[in-house]
Amino acid sequence: MARRQCTSEYKIKPIKAEVRRRLGYPHPARIPAGVVAEMAIGISLDEIGRARDADVAYMRNTFPLLDLGWRREDCLAYLTEHDLADTPRSACVGCPYRTDAEWVRLRRDDPAGWAEAVAFDAAIRHGSARANAAGQLLRGQFFLHRQRIPLDQVTLRPRTQEPADTPGCGPWTCPHTEPAEAALDAVATPGREVALNA
Ligand code: SF4
Repeated sequence: MARRQCTSEYKIKPIKAEVRRRLGYPHPARIPAGVVAEMAIGISLDEIGRARDADVAYMRNTFPLLDLGWRREDCLAYLTEHDLADTPRSACVGCPYRTDAEWVRLRRDDPAGWAEAVAFDAAIRHGSARANAAGQLLRGQFFLHRQRIPLDQVTLRPRTQEPADTPGCGPWTCPHTEPAEAALDAVATPGREVALNA
């Protein structure tokens, strides 16, 4: 596992760019004090520890499920009531944390998404010079799946029972922890997060 920068690169940065665009102050324009976009984030009571403030003054995070006092089971009951019981947890198409069952679902239900993930997997094989702070090439090869072979060659073995409480990944709320220090040895500056330049 190399340094993980997906949340900032694929979620937070694009969201901030879009918020700035909608507010009428695209980067690098200065946003006047008091101009604020409200961001409603779907964190439930059982994951309240993931709720945090935005790190810029022009965005204010709100948590409607916390206001309702809803737990995960309340959300599931609501979805079931509205015929949406099979709603999957949220994740990027090329998320390396997908379980085999989730890869199988993607391949079966979203062929275009699967093709995108396969292409993404091929594209990361040798890393990117921009993927570490010093601009050096990453060592070794990189794969989305832990079997470390191209995604479309992996024999997917979904478990019959998926963990019911795996949280989804949202901006500011990624449930996945940073990789261990030892694994970070593969990059130039362990632990450095990509700076958000919004
Ligand atoms: S869903 Fe996966 S790839 Fe996307 S931001 Fe979360 S951890 Fe990263």
